[in-house]
Amino acid sequence: MNNCIFCKIIAGQIPSAKLYEDDEMIVIKDIEPKAKVHCLCIPKEHFALLEGMDESRALIVKRALQKIPTLKTTLGVEDGFRLVVNQGENAGQTVHHLHIHILGGEPLPWE
Ligand code: AMP
Ligand code: ZN
Repeated sequence: MNNCIFCKIIAGQIPSAKLYEDDEMIVIKDIEPKAKVHCLCIPKEHFALLEGMDESRALIVKRALQKIPTLKTTLGVEDGFRLVVNQGENAGQTVHHLHIHILGGEPLPWE
């Protein structure tokens, strides 16, 4: 039994604020926003780390990166955004299903 929270969101077993969905990915609002706009682009296929990205997953990630700028108005990040992919413990990755944070809606600090 896959106990992954993002797989459960994708399966509709846990509610989420969904802003976009297609066959390969969803974009939802982060439940604990770290910026005025904080969304997550989540490929539907479960894998945790970039090391697990074979050719077909790489194409999905590529299409996610191409899709995100087309959603700027929908997401409210017309004036710019930052993408973050946390990988592993030191980065603070808490959900082990690859996802791309989309941050914006205001000037972002750079630390
Ligand atoms: P990371 O720390 O990179 O693994 O990011 C996981 C993100 O998922 C965090 O920013 C959490 O706030 C977010 N998150 C966890 N559970 C949910 C949920 N049920 N709905 C939306 N976002 C969530
Ligand atoms: Zn998963």
